[in-house]
Amino acid sequence: GKGAAMVTAVAYRLAEQSRQIAQTLAEFQLSKEQLLEVKDRMKTEILKGLGKATHDTATVKMLPTFVRSTPDGTENGDFLALDLGGTNFRVLLVKIRSGKRRTVEMHNKIYAIPLEVMQGTGEELFDHIVHCISDFLDYMGMKNARLPLGFTFSFPCKQTSLDAGILLTWTKGFKATDCEGEDVAGLLREGIKRREEFDLDVVAVVNDTVGTMMTCAYEEPTCEIGLIAGTGSNACYMEEMRNIEMVEGDEGRMCVNMEWGAFGDNGCLDDIRTQYDVAVDELSLNAGKQRYEKMCSGMYLGEIVRNILIDLTKRGFLFRGQISETLKTRGIFETKFLSQIESDRLALLQVRSILQHLGLDSTCDDSIIVKEVCGTVSHRAAQLCGAGMAAVVDKIRENRGLDHLDITVGVDGTLYKLHPHFSKIMHQTVKELAPKCNVSFLLSEDGSGKGAALITAVGCRMRQQEQN
Ligand code: BGC
Ligand code: MG
Repeated sequence: GKGAAMVTAVAYRLAEQSRQIAQTLAEFQLSKEQLLEVKDRMKTEILKGLGKATHDTATVKMLPTFVRSTPDGTENGDFLALDLGGTNFRVLLVKIRSGKRRTVEMHNKIYAIPLEVMQGTGEELFDHIVHCISDFLDYMGMKNARLPLGFTFSFPCKQTSLDAGILLTWTKGFKATDCEGEDVAGLLREGIKRREEFDLDVVAVVNDTVGTMMTCAYEEPTCEIGLIAGTGSNACYMEEMRNIEMVEGDEGRMCVNMEWGAFGDNGCLDDIRTQYDVAVDELSLNAGKQRYEKMCSGMYLGEIVRNILIDLTKRGFLFRGQISETLKTRGIFETKFLSQIESDRLALLQVRSILQHLGLDSTCDDSIIVKEVCGTVSHRAAQLCGAGMAAVVDKIRENRGLDHLDITVGVDGTLYKLHPHFSKIMHQTVKELAPKCNVSFLLSEDGSGKGAALITAVGCRMRQQEQN
């Protein structure tokens, strides 16, 4: 009868709807062949970044860091460290003691960087940073100590020595004027001078990946790679000097800051980018740049999710077809919310209450779909990150002419730490794509700050040697 026909119609519509949703999400599912292809392309871009003739036009910049060894335990002294460019801006005091019982003691304070400062003038940004240092020195009662300082500055910098780094381009949420093309150690020194209140010795400019590697290497000497899977995405590793054509000399190794976030900026990932990736890129502060980072890192995963949800809503599959103001708001799905939504321990009711909290009125069916979308996007992110890492470990293995390599990666970042599945999927992917390497991952506790201090300690020792 009529009733049965209606039931059939509804059932048909629902089946068609889930088929279309599945089809949309299928674009994010990468086969092993595709992932191996990504690994291969990363290897190609790595070689371009390292080569003298190809470096200038390379997207993956492979920047020399002038860090030539991991710590040896003889590092000693009191240091200030700054950590700019992650989820929080922090000022730290790090006390490192060498000897039989090595210890590292840290004090730190978190400061906010208001959006208008992140995106104002360079002078305002550095005045704000120096203001925070001043507050911290007051807080610690150390205004008169002239301490050596390590500046963890988590953006691509062209270094010509340990204590100078020219900002190539801002990434993530930063866009302060008059900084690109400038030495950020110099900008910091000028800010300190303008304030006329205290003096500091800026000894090292440090990428967060390098700080993370050094911190882990302090405990575990097989750590020769650093990885950040957080607001941004990047890696560094110990490369052979003979392969780093941009730096004079063939002996030993130097840590290279890969800046792998820019992988794909030459179009080499276009075949796997979806319309949602393109939309996220085009709406970002730095359109066309950091394309791989925009597929893998915490700052953008939520945006990919939001763009998919908007599309599914427009097509009538979600939120009763109503696009709310919330859904139109950029940045609503922070890493911590994605992590909560994907947590296995959460009942759907709790997922709905998180969505409610974000201002999204969902039905039970909606919450199932949202969870599926989040899972799909973060799964691909973890796999892509793993494919990049597989290229790195195999490069190191080949450098050393080994059939088998045992190596440790020091890792930090909110996505890696907070997300319930990201780390596991990433590890699994590395294992599958680089079967000749046995890769351990070591979580770095407070990598950026401690690592900056360790590098500063080495920098101070080098200066003393030069003077003698
Ligand atoms: C920056 C890198 C940094 C990474 C992780 C990227 O946006 O370009 O320098 O290491 O974020 O913080
Ligand atoms: Mg950080």
